[in-house]
Amino acid sequence: MEQPRRNTWQREAVRAALAEKRGFVSAQDLHQVLREGGSTIGLATVYRALAGLAEMGEADSLQSPEGENLFRSCATQGHHHHLICRSCGDTRELSANLVEEWTQRVAAEHGFSEIEHVVDIFGLCMNCREPASS
Ligand SMILES: [Zn+2]
Ligand SMILES: [Zn+2]
Ligand SMILES: [Zn+2]
Repeated sequence: MEQPRRNTWQREAVRAALAEKRGFVSAQDLHQVLREGGSTIGLATVYRALAGLAEMGEADSLQSPEGENLFRSCATQGHHHHLICRSCGDTRELSANLVEEWTQRVAAEHGFSEIEHVVDIFGLCMNCREPASS
């Protein structure tokens, strides 16, 4: 069923810019990219567009360990998890059946329904890791 939605040019510009990024970006990062591309879009508009895309499931959002909201246009539809390099931003999309089973079981044990969870792993990828000193 098609939901009527407001497709402003700003949102399209934000969507296109986000799709070109391979890792998670902040609204500030994306705003800078758009400005460098000649757009006059404002930071608040970028943030609203990103939040809207995330709400519609067209972008993933998460909080960095520093508490910053980050966004990404993911290739995987539906629920999944992320493995993110905190140095270069390289991101892998993961399915995590163990996590899904565990959250369902724990929630059921405590009588919780309508549960949701966010599990994202931050670390250093192979390229960013210090060479092993062995
Ligand atoms: Zn994702
Ligand atoms: Zn890396
Ligand atoms: Zn999950």
